[in-house]
Amino acid sequence: MSTLIRGGTVVSGSGDTVIEAGAVVIRDGRIADVLDRWDAGKEFDGEVIDGSGCVVMPGLINVHSHGVTPGPLFPSAAPALSTEGWMGNLDRHLLSGTTTVLSLCGFASMDDVREADLRHAVHVRGATTHLPQCLQAAAMADGQGLTATSRELTVEQMLEDGAVAIGELGGGQTLGGGGQDLVYIPAAIHHAAGIRITIDQARRIKEAVLGRFIDVSAFNLNALAEAAKEAGLAEAFTATQLAKLVTDSVMPSFAPAIEGLREGVRAALKFGVPAIVHSASATASVLRELMLELDGGGATVIAAHANHPTHTPDEAHELAVQGRKMGWPAEASVFDLLHRRHTVKTREHWDLLLREPDLISVIGTDYGHDGDHDELISAVQDVAAYGHRTLPGAVAMATSAVADLIPGIAPGSGRLTAGRVADVVVARADDFRDVRFVLVDGVCVVRDGKLTPEAHR
Ligand SMILES: [Zn+2]
Repeated sequence: MSTLIRGGTVVSGSGDTVIEAGAVVIRDGRIADVLDRWDAGKEFDGEVIDGSGCVVMPGLINVHSHGVTPGPLFPSAAPALSTEGWMGNLDRHLLSGTTTVLSLCGFASMDDVREADLRHAVHVRGATTHLPQCLQAAAMADGQGLTATSRELTVEQMLEDGAVAIGELGGGQTLGGGGQDLVYIPAAIHHAAGIRITIDQARRIKEAVLGRFIDVSAFNLNALAEAAKEAGLAEAFTATQLAKLVTDSVMPSFAPAIEGLREGVRAALKFGVPAIVHSASATASVLRELMLELDGGGATVIAAHANHPTHTPDEAHELAVQGRKMGWPAEASVFDLLHRRHTVKTREHWDLLLREPDLISVIGTDYGHDGDHDELISAVQDVAAYGHRTLPGAVAMATSAVADLIPGIAPGSGRLTAGRVADVVVARADDFRDVRFVLVDGVCVVRDGKLTPEAHR
C-alpha cells in the first residue's frame, strides 16, 4: 500500500526542518521518502493526498494520558472506564493527530494495555506504579478499580512485560490536588448533606483546612467560614465538621502517596527506566529532596505538568529551574488551559515556563475534566504561535523529544525520515485542530476529519 502526501508544509519532527510544499512518500507502513517537491502531473502508483494549506507532521506522541485502557483509572485506582469510555478517549486522541499515548494511570496490567493497543489504531503504551506505598495510597484515596491482578503485580514484572516507564507517581486524587476538588470532596459533602458544590468551592474549602501544601497546621478558621458560606454549607456543617470531612477525604492517602513517590524514583534508578512524577505544590518538597538524593545521577526523572496550577507561577518556575540544574526533564501539560478551561483557567504558568528555551522538554495533555482536555496538537500550535519555540521546535516537543526521552514509547517513529514508521498527520495550517488525515503504520485511520473503519480493530 502506497500513499503520497503532496503540497503541504512538511515539518519533520526532528526540531529544525520545514519544507514548504514538500512531499512525503509512504510505502508498506514506512516513510519511503521526504521530498522538496512533487511536480504536478507526475504519476503516483497509490493514494494521493493533497496537503495544500496543511501542515504535515509525525503522528504526535502524548507522554501524559489517562483513561486510555481498561483497568484501574488514575493513580487513585478508581473504577475502570467502560470500553466505550476508553475507546472514546482514544478516538479523540486520534482525531486530533495523536498516534501514540503513554497511559499514566499506573495500575493497569500489560494485558489491559495490550487490549487497548490491539483494538485501537493509536499505539498505547503502559507505565507502572505497582509498588506497595503507591498501592496503599490508591486504596486510601479510592481503590475501587483495583483487582486481584493489579494488587499482585510488581514493577519488575510490568517492566519485563513491556511497560516503558514508572508513573504517574502521585496524583491529584492521592495528594489532595485537583482530583479531590473535582470528585472526592464534593462527593463527601454530597454524601453527608445532599448539597452539590463546585470544583472551585471545594478547592477553597480544602485550602482553608490544609493550605496549598496539604499541611494540617495551615488550618485557617476565618477562611473556612468564608468558604463554607460562599458554598452554601454554613447551615449544614460546623467548621469542625467540615474540617474533619476534608481531612478525612484528603489525608489518609497523602503520606503513602509521598512515600510511593520516593519508592518509584528509587525503582527507576534500580531498573534503569524513566520515572514520571506528579509535580504540584503538594509534592514540591519531596521532589526537591529527591533531586538532592539523586544528585543528577542515574535515573531519568520527568517532572509531569511542571506548570501545575497548584504551584504559583514563581514556584513552578523555581522548581523547574532546580530540576533543570539537577538534570530532570520537565513536561508541561496543556490540561484544558487553552480552550475549554473547566479545570485550569490561567495560562500564566504555561507561558512563564515555556518562554525559557530549555526549561520544558516535552508537552502532553493530562486528563482534564472527564477526559475533555485540550488537543495536544493545539498545544503544539500554541507554543509556536506564542513564539516560545519555532514551529519545528514545537512539533518536536510532542514527537521526537518524547521518543528520545522515553526509549520504548515510540521506537521507529516521531520523525518523518526515510525508513521510519509511517505515523503521519495532515492538519489545516490555520487551525491545527482541524486534522484532515492521520496515518498509522501507513494505514489511513482518519480521512477528511473522520475515523475510517481501520481506526478500530
Ligand atoms: Zn499528575
